[in-house]
Amino acid sequence: MPDRERWFRAPGRVNLIGDHTDYNEGFVLPVAIDLSCVVRATPNADGVVRLRSESVDGEVALAADGGTDPADVDEVWGRYAAGVVGTLSERGRPAAGMDAVISSTIPLGAGLSSSAALEVALALALCDVADYELPQLELALACQEAEQVATGVPCGIMDQLASLAGLHNHALLIDCRSLEVQAIRLPPRLAVLILHSGMSRALVDSEYGERREACEAMAALLGVPALRDATPQQVADEPRARHVVSENARVLQAAEALAEGNVAALGPLLNESHRSLRDDFDVSTPELDALAAALVDAGAVGARLTGAGFGGCVVGLASRDEADRIVETAAGHYWAETGHQPRAFVFRAVDGAGRIPPQAPS
Ligand code: ADP
Ligand code: MG
Repeated sequence: MPDRERWFRAPGRVNLIGDHTDYNEGFVLPVAIDLSCVVRATPNADGVVRLRSESVDGEVALAADGGTDPADVDEVWGRYAAGVVGTLSERGRPAAGMDAVISSTIPLGAGLSSSAALEVALALALCDVADYELPQLELALACQEAEQVATGVPCGIMDQLASLAGLHNHALLIDCRSLEVQAIRLPPRLAVLILHSGMSRALVDSEYGERREACEAMAALLGVPALRDATPQQVADEPRARHVVSENARVLQAAEALAEGNVAALGPLLNESHRSLRDDFDVSTPELDALAAALVDAGAVGARLTGAGFGGCVVGLASRDEADRIVETAAGHYWAETGHQPRAFVFRAVDGAGRIPPQAPS
């Protein structure tokens, strides 16, 4: 192992409840999961950030002073990295170079936030080799901005903040207005189940922007700063806004139920969230509907699509003893119904990103 190599790990995340609420300054309830991106970095004196990924082909060389425009980087994954170098430079990071190798156990593009984990692990490495420190929230904002620059999608802060602020055995209630994070202990026997529908998130970029604009237009019409401030009465006849307002209420109720260890109360909240995303916000697909139903039929406490929708994953909750059986049964039913083979995961909640000791090769 090279002498001065140092390792940084950033987890992916699953959002238990609260979708399309973050950019409406509302609430989300993610957990950092036990899959992560690891960056192995060695400082160099070249003024260049040289990156290689074990997940994707190609090498990327970026000016360490943030001078490389993400749009000029050929490799799509390198744009995220260029975004991070750029947003950290804007926040005062000295132009220190590094050579780094990226590896990740998070499946790419599956809705488990491999992109935020990449940004966060890279940001930690970049700050470390430059002997530079930023508060956690500032790092999260830099990574969020990097993702926006790299993709052109006006994404919220949830993924990056969850990856940084994760806590072992806890979910994170994030207030997307104040950016305050409250860790809420998960009942010890509760497992977080994820089934990926096997359908990639088609349409998501354009539809995401369209939904976001509709929400902002509705807030302006109602004369409130964001839909977070609208009342249920104000949005009773507006399905899109109704989803946002009712979803915020469900997130807060779910956080309370978790804090009380009241697992039974979580089921209806998750199921209703799915219904609202499907009928009011119109971001579900027949596959996601079938998968959520299959999980509930197999005995999950509740289940819902998680993430932006239009494909991707469904999250469910179940007791840890039953988790494997439920996932297997649901996957079988879904396969029989749709012909798609879902990928299944059972997660634990882990600590957020940080430096780790170099590991022996596994
Ligand atoms: P998700 O964040 O849900 O996994 P995204 O589409 O937001 O899906 O991000 C996936 C993209 O992030 C990948 O296509 C790739 O460009 C980049 N990425 C994530 N992890 C890695 C990695 N380990 N190596 C290289 N690129 C990565
Ligand atoms: Mg992502």
